[in-house]
Amino acid sequence: MIDERMRRLLDCLAAVHREGDIDCATAARHFTRLGEAALNGADIHDILPQAAAHLAHCPDCREEYEALLAVLRAEQSSETHFQP
Ligand SMILES: [Zn+2]
Repeated sequence: MIDERMRRLLDCLAAVHREGDIDCATAARHFTRLGEAALNGADIHDILPQAAAHLAHCPDCREEYEALLAVLRAEQSSETHFQP
C-alpha cells in the first residue's frame, strides 16, 4: 500500500526532524543542573546545548527555569551569608 509506505516515510522524516531537539519534560529534568552551572558562571550552551536550545524557544520552560534560578540564587546568597 502506497499510503502506508508514505505514512511511514513521513513518520520517519518527522523523527529525524525531532532528533537533536528535546521536549519540555526532558528539558525540565536538566534545569537544576543548568541553573547551578549558570550561577557558577558557566555557559549552559556548553553544558547542555539541547536544553539551552529548548529554553530559547519555549517560553513555558524559560519561565520555569528562571523561577528555579531565582530559588538557586537565593540559596546561594543565604549560604554566602553564613560564611565568615
Ligand atoms: Zn518546553
